[in-house]
Amino acid sequence: MTLEPAQVMVVTPHPDDAEYGVAGTVALWTREGKDVVYVVCTNGDKGTGDVNTKPEELARIREQEQMAAAKLLGVKKVHFLRHPDQGLEDTPEFRKEIVRLIRMYRPQTVVTADPYRRYIWHRDHRIVGQVTLDAVFPYARDHHAYPDLIQEGLQPHRVKEVLLWASEDPNYRSDITDTFDLKVAALRCHKSQMEGTPFPEAELQKWLRERHKQAAKGEDFELAEAFHQVELFW
Ligand SMILES: [Zn+2]
Repeated sequence: MTLEPAQVMVVTPHPDDAEYGVAGTVALWTREGKDVVYVVCTNGDKGTGDVNTKPEELARIREQEQMAAAKLLGVKKVHFLRHPDQGLEDTPEFRKEIVRLIRMYRPQTVVTADPYRRYIWHRDHRIVGQVTLDAVFPYARDHHAYPDLIQEGLQPHRVKEVLLWASEDPNYRSDITDTFDLKVAALRCHKSQMEGTPFPEAELQKWLRERHKQAAKGEDFELAEAFHQVELFW
């Protein structure tokens, strides 16, 4: 088993969620020379209002869109777990997949969706957030959690920080004023998701700027991505 250290791992439910949640900050990190890897949990094959688009064709398109966005942002590697869209469950198998990747890449920071958003929240987002938090602690950390992973050379790993996007309780804001345009460009790579949404492509930049301005309220910079940050002291 080869270890490929990366400072940051982004675990995203569908192709495009990472761009909405953290692309501006990812661009900052990669500019600083940090290695960022993406883990895309589902294939996004239900993300269309077009009844004529076949799910398998959509999944193929969305991988390409995700690769293009990741390339723009300087992401080092994208892992596609290819679970069916709307099909995630909090299972030991899924948790172990995430633990395996955490132990392979040994990130300081893990970024994912906040699972504790109330009421209407995509089930895949809720489950990815929950499973990722569980994978970080205690499963990636504990030696006896997976004896077979130890046999493979995947030693326990202690993540230092988790950042949760789409949080109702943000306590950390990153300044994306300089990388905002790159975020918009990365989102525009997800062409299949621009049609039939409340945010047509032409409106995207305006809508996003407003949203990130709101997120930066009270800060001394213009545009922010907001997260709930959990620091882990071991
Ligand atoms: Zn999603």
